Amino acid sequence: MGMVAFQEIEDAARRIRPHIRRTPVDLSTSLSDMTGVPVYLKLEHRQITGAFKVRGATNAVLSLSDAERARGVVAASTGNHGRGLAHAAKRAGIRCVVCMSSLVPQVKIDAIKALGAEIRIVGKSQDEAQMEVGRLIREERLVSVPPFDHPLIVAGQGTIGLEIVEDVPDVSTVFVPLSGGGLISGVAAAVKAKRPGVKVVGISMARGAAMHASLKAGYPTEVEELPTLADSLGGGINLDNSITFEMVRTLVDRVVLLTEAEIAAGIRHAYVQEREVIEGGAAVGVAALLARKVKSFGPTVLLLTGRSIDMRLHQSVVAGTNALMDAA
Ligand SMILES: *Cc1c(COP(=O)(O)O)cnc(C)c1O
Repeated sequence: MGMVAFQEIEDAARRIRPHIRRTPVDLSTSLSDMTGVPVYLKLEHRQITGAFKVRGATNAVLSLSDAERARGVVAASTGNHGRGLAHAAKRAGIRCVVCMSSLVPQVKIDAIKALGAEIRIVGKSQDEAQMEVGRLIREERLVSVPPFDHPLIVAGQGTIGLEIVEDVPDVSTVFVPLSGGGLISGVAAAVKAKRPGVKVVGISMARGAAMHASLKAGYPTEVEELPTLADSLGGGINLDNSITFEMVRTLVDRVVLLTEAEIAAGIRHAYVQEREVIEGGAAVGVAALLARKVKSFGPTVLLLTGRSIDMRLHQSVVAGTNALMDAA
């Protein structure tokens, strides 16, 4: 068990600064008018690779020893982490293997391949892909860079919190999409070190919210994974979670759950009112405000985390014809 210290986040910021984009913060007129407080959007979906995960991945890759660099890195991820890690490894000139199941769509495979990573397709589930990671660590001595439960990943994602406090010094509430909790752990640690009074709210989809279920149980718990518009927020928190469960329990003030229809409304509002194309997992902050599930009492920052959404899916959500929107 361990918590990531503020110093580790500042070290990460210095390390990754030349390699990542410092994303802007924009005032949302529509959401400010609706809530009566200034609402800002942290536009992290405009990060290189289209999601914030390149921050943690870059911090981890830049922290490798020479011996580890020579061995290369490995992860099981179909989405934003795999892409972020492939990008970081390419920049560092080291080997990167991404393991995924045969169910992963070809577009995602192509995106990661285009970044020069080796792809291993194994089995029909994320668990089987994870077993291949274990094999590669043992047999080819690759270094594992997991998506959230790792101090360098938490510290890298936490650099967003430093930027939020710099750009919105009077921030009172931060809304953060929540899955494995690497992002919110880092952001909460950074923001609360600078502004102890700030409230940090985590937001997940009701369909398969593993961290929420774990917090309720008091220990890391598995939940059934279901199709959701917020696909980047799916998956478990690891039954042997060693960092993020404890950090979320200690630092996060509230966790809010959303229906698929509410998430769809968030995607639509971001597009129609703010002209931003974001994926479901990135729209939950906007969605929570629209659904009036959380009240804001002062300057509020919503973290928009990624834009990896199939454009036909995006169109169907904006048009209100997507089938998942009616899911319970
Ligand atoms: C990974 C991810 C999240 C959640 O981050 P965790 O550290 O797993 O909580 C949110 N939004 C997007 C777009 C992501 O890719």
